[in-house]
Amino acid sequence: MARIVQKFGGTSVADLDCIRNVAKRVKAEVDRGSDVAVIVSAMAGVTNQLVDYVSQASALHDTREYDVVVSSGEQVTAGLLALCLQELGVPARSWMGWQIPIHADDMHGKARITGIEPDRLVKKFGEGQVAVVAGFQGVSPHGRIATLGRGGSDTTAVALAAALGAERCDIFTDVDGVYTTDPRIVPKARKLDKITYEEMLEMASLGAKVLQTRSVELAMNMGVRVQVLSSFEDLPGTLVVDEDEIVEKQVVSGIAYSRDEAKITLVQVEDKPGVAAGIFGPLADANINVDMIVQNISPDGGATDLTFTVTRADLNRAVKLLQDRRDEIRYKDLIHDAGVVKVSVIGVGMRSHAGVALSMFTTLAEKGINIQVISTSEIKISVLIDEEYTELALRALHTAYGLDAD
Ligand code: ASP
Ligand code: MG
Repeated sequence: MARIVQKFGGTSVADLDCIRNVAKRVKAEVDRGSDVAVIVSAMAGVTNQLVDYVSQASALHDTREYDVVVSSGEQVTAGLLALCLQELGVPARSWMGWQIPIHADDMHGKARITGIEPDRLVKKFGEGQVAVVAGFQGVSPHGRIATLGRGGSDTTAVALAAALGAERCDIFTDVDGVYTTDPRIVPKARKLDKITYEEMLEMASLGAKVLQTRSVELAMNMGVRVQVLSSFEDLPGTLVVDEDEIVEKQVVSGIAYSRDEAKITLVQVEDKPGVAAGIFGPLADANINVDMIVQNISPDGGATDLTFTVTRADLNRAVKLLQDRRDEIRYKDLIHDAGVVKVSVIGVGMRSHAGVALSMFTTLAEKGINIQVISTSEIKISVLIDEEYTELALRALHTAYGLDAD
């Protein structure tokens, strides 16, 4: 029998009516003759509330107890869904991470799954029972509950799908799939039928928050076919698959943006070995992540400007750190700007097509948008622009790459 893993996020299980609706979707899959494991999140808003309780109880909280508290939301949903399934005449039981077990390391609050023993669960499939699994949690080597980081139920679902050798892992959510870009900004955005793991990874890490980034990495490494679809509509969603499965490769599949960027320029730093290390070393030590970097060559072997980006949350810390080290780093001036946005075009087809970057630059130029920083990877070109032009840039690029819906 085909094994299917279904995962329902917080908005899909927001209240009892929603959970009853989920039970119907599970039953439909059971009626198609599949063995089904369902992974659930906490009801919408519950995890935030629990995190808040923990911070109020103890500012310097013990992360093991944090995990005990915040993992409890999933336990409630799992029990309720099992009950609703039973009410529909579908045999079902709930499983906590430790009962399966799902093994995790002891990095409480952001643990990683180290292994799953699915045998007990599979045995129950033999008895026609649906497994309702609490997402987001595993058991540590010390027998304690360990949570997998916010959004971690996606990772539970993909990991379990891999362990079960499932045919597909369906991630039900409040959007009906992955779009070519943010439909709230570009009304002509289209839902994609398929997207490759690599493209999805770039989209996810750029803030298109449909799937937890780690779950996409895992799906790619384990070859799990993932489908993102709506729990509220009966429509096919977007399949996240291997490149081989996509026959007609688009040169550009999607356009993502991130407002969580801030730019720092060090004016006139010396152009000699060790200078970059002297700047980025202390930033790394302070756990400040640097994303895009540009440095000019100096015409006379003297001084050059160095520009880079950090997240907005890290901007003040980064500026302070660089100011404190001004005497060592030796720069003439420091300029910073949080009013920037990073826009990226993404597509595996870029590997075999020339001129993709040029059309991006031309399109932006035609709209009078100045590019401040550029960075590229094999399947992505990113530019940093003034935040004011976000919408204009996204719409123009969407049209230029032929992505508009007709
Ligand atoms: N409930 C957890 C969270 O809100 C895990 C999840 O929903 O994936 O982060
Ligand atoms: Mg989620």
